[in-house]
Amino acid sequence: MRLNGKVALITGGGSGIGKASCLLFAREGAKVVVVDLRKETAEATAKEIGSAARAFAADVSKAKDAEGMVRFAEEQFGRLDIVFNNAGVFHPDDDSVTNTSEEIWDMVIDINLKGVFLGCKYAVPALLRAGGGSIINTASFVAVMGAATPQIAYTASKGGVLAMTREIAVEFARKNIRANALCPGPVETPLLQELLSDPARRQRRLVHIPPGRFGKAEEMANAALFLASDESSFVNGSTFLVDGGITAAYVTPE
Ligand code: NAD
Repeated sequence: MRLNGKVALITGGGSGIGKASCLLFAREGAKVVVVDLRKETAEATAKEIGSAARAFAADVSKAKDAEGMVRFAEEQFGRLDIVFNNAGVFHPDDDSVTNTSEEIWDMVIDINLKGVFLGCKYAVPALLRAGGGSIINTASFVAVMGAATPQIAYTASKGGVLAMTREIAVEFARKNIRANALCPGPVETPLLQELLSDPARRQRRLVHIPPGRFGKAEEMANAALFLASDESSFVNGSTFLVDGGITAAYVTPE
């Protein structure tokens, strides 16, 4: 088992990529703290795992909650080795720079960017107490390329996550902490459900994905597992693209 003896905290663990990662990390021997804003979904994931998991309700954009989730992990399992700052939102009113409201901007940046900052702020001391560890922050392929289907606050938040992760990776490298930014391409999860249920909007995106399909939450979980495990011991500060080749493509197959 690839995570035997490790303790992992995963935010957004009640749904999509976070949930798939909680289940996979537990199968690979980790003890898992499932964190989500929606308590019942965190509890459902933890229940599916059994005694190796605990649920914790937290809003990652609130310092008190972020501090609380890290403390909870150490109280429950005695240490923290892996933190996967994965919780994020995608708002339907997040649009062009010219018509996105300040409220939407603040809300998206608060959760997607400040939430990752707070997750790292409180997890790093815990990882140091454990002698080191692995941080995985979920950015996105939109952190490295622009889209004519705009979502300005989301894109800016993910660019921030990518840059912040690099800096954390460099600062703590000699203290045995690695930090990497997981950059998924479009994945079929509840996050994109509304958008992808519209055939025109679905096709508008699909045409840019070389394999001709969206990603799956389990495919992101597999990438996160590699970054979490000691197999990636020399992978640090990376822009870890798991996007089906979107960022490699100029023209895609017909
Ligand atoms: P999802 O909506 O299925 O899951 C996100 C989870 O985060 C939900 O359970 C939600 O309750 C939780 N959450 C939201 N706000 C929170 C908060 N303030 N505090 C704690 N938990 C909160 O989405 P997903 O597709 O699994 O997305 C996971 C991550 O992957 C996000 O950061 C997202 O931006 C990123 N991502 C997703 C895609 C995609 O296409 N699905 C692509 C690139 C990046």
